Amino acid sequence: MLVQKRGFYAANRERERARVYTWKDLNRDIVAAMNRSWRLRHPDRTRELGRSHRAIRRARLNGTACTLTRSEWSAILEVFDYRCAYCLRGDVYLHQEHVWPLALSGGYTAENIVPSWRDCNVRKGAHGPLHAIACAA
Ligand SMILES: [Zn+2]
Repeated sequence: MLVQKRGFYAANRERERARVYTWKDLNRDIVAAMNRSWRLRHPDRTRELGRSHRAIRRARLNGTACTLTRSEWSAILEVFDYRCAYCLRGDVYLHQEHVWPLALSGGYTAENIVPSWRDCNVRKGAHGPLHAIACAA
């Protein structure tokens, strides 16, 4: 059944997309209520989305690379064992920290993002990676 639906969607992608957009356009109040409800049920994910939207916007305004995907971020978290890259704390909410900050033309890319918790991120500020090492010592 599911496979049949997927096949139907693939064969009628443009038409289905147009149908969904039309429905959303005609039911903006319902869509807004659904989105509000989702945000209330997923506060961490909402915070993360807001943060990455702002980082992407700033990277675009700076003209730097902006390619980090959600699956790359998950892989980065795995590599760092869900710990802060600087102090190795694992019992905290982890931010996406730019090794080279946007202010120094660092991109929003998998090569330039590490997990870091709020205090380490704030302490490092808009400095390069050597500053974080100096702070940790
Ligand atoms: Zn840390």
